[in-house]
Amino acid sequence: MNAEHSDALVIFGFSGDLASKKIFPALYAMAKSGALTVPVVGVASSKWRDDDWQRHVRRSVEQSGPIDDVPAFDRLLSLIDYVSGDYNDAQTFTRLKQALGNAKRPAHYLAIPPSLFAAVIQSLGAAGLADNARVIVEKPFGRDLASARALNAVAQSVFPESSIFRIDHFLGKDAIMNILYFRFANSFLEPIWNRHHVASVQITMAEDFGIGGRGGFYESAGCLRDVVENHLFQIVALLAMEPPAYQGFDAVHVAKTSVLRAMKPLSPDELVRGQYLGYRQEKNVAPDSDVETYCALRLQIDSWRWGGVPWYLRAGKCLAGKALEVLVQLHPPPQQLFDDAGPGTQGLNQRANHLRFSLQPSSTIALAARVKQPGQGFVGTLRELCLHEAENLDEQTYERLLGNAMAGDDALFTSQDAVEAAWAVVEPVLSDHHAALPYERGSWGPKAADALIAADGGWHDPTLEIGCGR
Ligand code: NDP
Repeated sequence: MNAEHSDALVIFGFSGDLASKKIFPALYAMAKSGALTVPVVGVASSKWRDDDWQRHVRRSVEQSGPIDDVPAFDRLLSLIDYVSGDYNDAQTFTRLKQALGNAKRPAHYLAIPPSLFAAVIQSLGAAGLADNARVIVEKPFGRDLASARALNAVAQSVFPESSIFRIDHFLGKDAIMNILYFRFANSFLEPIWNRHHVASVQITMAEDFGIGGRGGFYESAGCLRDVVENHLFQIVALLAMEPPAYQGFDAVHVAKTSVLRAMKPLSPDELVRGQYLGYRQEKNVAPDSDVETYCALRLQIDSWRWGGVPWYLRAGKCLAGKALEVLVQLHPPPQQLFDDAGPGTQGLNQRANHLRFSLQPSSTIALAARVKQPGQGFVGTLRELCLHEAENLDEQTYERLLGNAMAGDDALFTSQDAVEAAWAVVEPVLSDHHAALPYERGSWGPKAADALIAADGGWHDPTLEIGCGR
């Protein structure tokens, strides 16, 4: 890792939605903690005067919470400069260079439409703004294997790999970082963390809202590209990876990439696609759109540790709740001593042990064990032992990612190999798939997704309280 700190931060997409929702609040938090001391240059096409962009930054920060440290906010404003111009115009980069003044190691953050990533990277190179610089690229990184490879080729023709920071903001979330910590800071898990003890793993990412006016974006993405191929695959990689060979995040990257490479490419019958009723009436959505707002899939990891263990992933919009949860289902005891539990018994209360990571809205790690219910007979129930984290540190995600990228620490970013390996898994079903099945808003998606996991006890409803307070 090149440890020299960036001496300026350039934000392409300064007037955009992400900057407003996430980046300005993060910069304000960094100004408060003293982590931001370098000049910040915003670049976008809006023709803003100083008071325009200052008002915009203030409004954005206030939308995430009150400005409770006025000197820090004023310090933030004093660090910012704004360059207005089109990214397709070389003059924009000339003006950016002037605005950067004496900065020698800028970090360029591309919070812009993905169709402009390559052009902006090339213009940075042409303008001499890539020397000793870093580039932070928002998601999505490509929209299939070929485009991800092409974008990697462009990025690496201008920046060395160690200076390219591909954001998957899930990796900066505290609860997700804790998967890595929990797995490898404890020794009790390792003996059962394999095909001999794990029957299946299921991951649910449920949103109870729709596409929120982003029809144009969603029509070109869909659920599989938007959250499964990146966010959920990264969670699978953290859960399934081998212990890193040595201390250091390059070893973590290697171990995670090995999981992605061991995933079998998906076939159409392993994927159920759904579309919530009313999606086709949303703004900028085609009236005959087949884009999926829901998908469920069965994934196989072809490795000694995981061979034969199905990994079920589902994600969707307008579902019955909002949650992000991992449930690792363990095998039942080999002998069925009691009638109420054992192979083939259905329903959560009848199930065998599990380990459950609730990652959103709250952070909980729960181990479910069967215990006898008070009374005469041997009738049991499933109860959870819980580690519940009351504090939600999600708002620190972008602060952490920006700070790490500017410090040259790539631990929470994805590598070229990982990005391409993930695309290779979904590549066969990007165009060859069954039609998206309609589902009611507020439901758990199309019924066909239940059939996909029926042999392994069905989906767990992540909004159900099992025993841990949510
Ligand atoms: P927006 O469309 O809201 O913002 C786009 C930004 O790029 C604006 O600042 C716009 O400037 C600028 N821009 C676009 N074209 C040009 C151009 N030719 N020349 C100069 N400036 C231009 O996008 P988002 O903020 O929603 O998304 C940005 C990135 O972040 C995308 O990669 C997206 O996938 C990613 N992302 C977004 C999330 C979100 O919640 N919004 C969540 C996670 C990732 P102007 O308006 O002044 O023209």
